[in-house]
Amino acid sequence: MQVWLLWLERWFRQQRDITACLVISLLPFPIYLIFLLMPIVAMLNQEYQGIYNWEVVPFVQIIVALSSFVLASVALFCWSRRSSDEDHPWLSLVTVTTTFLVVASISVAYGYKDSPLMLLCLGLVLLVRALFKPDVFKPISVVLGLVFLCYEIGFWTESLRYAPMLNEPIFLGEGLNAWWSFWLRLIYVIIALPMLAMFLVVGYFMNREKEELELLVVTDSLTGVSNRSHFMAQLDMESRRHSRRQQPMCVLMCDVDHFKQVNDTWGHPAGDEVLEAIGRILKQCTRSAGDVVARFGGEEFVVLLPNTRLSQGQKVGEKIRKYLSHHIFGEGDASFQVTMSIGVAQVNDGDGELALKVADDNLYRAKERGRDQLVAGLAHQRGSLECI
Ligand code: GH3
Ligand code: MG
Ligand code: MG
Repeated sequence: MQVWLLWLERWFRQQRDITACLVISLLPFPIYLIFLLMPIVAMLNQEYQGIYNWEVVPFVQIIVALSSFVLASVALFCWSRRSSDEDHPWLSLVTVTTTFLVVASISVAYGYKDSPLMLLCLGLVLLVRALFKPDVFKPISVVLGLVFLCYEIGFWTESLRYAPMLNEPIFLGEGLNAWWSFWLRLIYVIIALPMLAMFLVVGYFMNREKEELELLVVTDSLTGVSNRSHFMAQLDMESRRHSRRQQPMCVLMCDVDHFKQVNDTWGHPAGDEVLEAIGRILKQCTRSAGDVVARFGGEEFVVLLPNTRLSQGQKVGEKIRKYLSHHIFGEGDASFQVTMSIGVAQVNDGDGELALKVADDNLYRAKERGRDQLVAGLAHQRGSLECI
C-alpha cells in the first residue's frame, strides 16, 4: 500500500470530524467560485447579459459568497487543528448545513434538472453519509429533501419559477449555446473528478475497516488465533461438508499442563506470553489453508484438521506436543518449559460436537495418565468410544 494512502487512512480514522469537515468544506469549493464568477463574466459581456435575471442574481451571489467565506474559515480552522484531539460537535453541523444551503440555493437558482447540480447534490449526500455520523447526516438530508419537495410543489402549482436566476432554462430542447456549452463542461469536470476520487478513496478505507472488523470478530485478541465461536461455526460447517463427501476429519483438544503453576511462579504476564507462543506453535505445526486453530478458553486450544485420518491427526498432535515441550520460555534463571496434554478424535458421521466431546474425554484421559501425552479415539455414534 502506498505510504501517502496509509497516512491518509490513519488521518481519516484518527479525527473523523475534523477530516470530514475539511474534505466537505474544500472539495466543492471550486464550484462555489465558478458560480460566483459566472454572473460577473456575463455582466461584463454584452452578448451574455440577457442570460441572467438580474433581480435574483444579488440574493444568490450573497448566499454563495457568505457560505464560501464560512466554509473557507471552516477549512482553515480544521487545518489549524488537524493534529489536536479536541471534539467540535458544532463544527460538523455548521459545515454540513452551510454546504447544503449553498448547494441547494445554486441548484434551485440555476435549475437542477438540466444542469450537473443534481449530480453535485447526490454526490455530497453520499459523501456526507460516508464521512459524518448519522446524527449530522439524518436531519440535514431530511431538510434538503424537503427543500426540493417544496420547490417541486411550487413549480407544479406555478407559484415558483423553474431556474429563477435565469431568463430561460439552460436546456430548451435544442443544442446548448456557446455559453452553457463551455460552463457546463467545466462544471461537470470539476464536480465529477474530485467526487469520483473521493468515493474511491473512502470506499477503499471503508472496505479495509470492514475487513479488519470481520477479522476482529473471529479472532482471539491475546493469541491471534480464532476464537471459540468462530471455531464452532467452522466445525459445524466442515463436519457437514466432510460427511457429504465421506471424507475424514480430526479434532485436537489441547490443554497446557499445570498452567496455574506457571502463572503462580512466573506471573500472569509470563503466562500470557506462553499462551501467545502456543498460538504461534499451533499455527506453525498445522496447514495454513484449511486447518483451524482456536483458543477454546483459558489455556485450552482446539485444532480442526479437515481431510485428516485419525493416524494423521495423531502425528500432528505429537508434533505439536514435542515442539512445545522443547520450547524454552523466558531467559537465564527465569527460563522454564511447559508441556501440553492432547485429546484427538476423528469425525466420520458429520457430528462435529460429538467429536469434540470425544477429544475432550481423550484429553481427560491424557491428564489422568500423567500429562504431556496424547490420547486418540474414534467418534462413531453418540456414547460409543474406541480408544487408542
Ligand atoms: P491441568 O494440568 O490439570 O490442566 O492444570 P492447570 O493448572 O493447567 O489447570 P487449571 O484449570 O487449574 O488452571 C488453568 C489456569 O489458567 C487458571 C487461570 O488463571 C489460567 N488462565 C486462564 N486464562 C488465562 C489467561 O488468559 N492468561 C493467563 N496468564 N492465565 C490464564
Ligand atoms: Mg491446564
Ligand atoms: Mg484447562
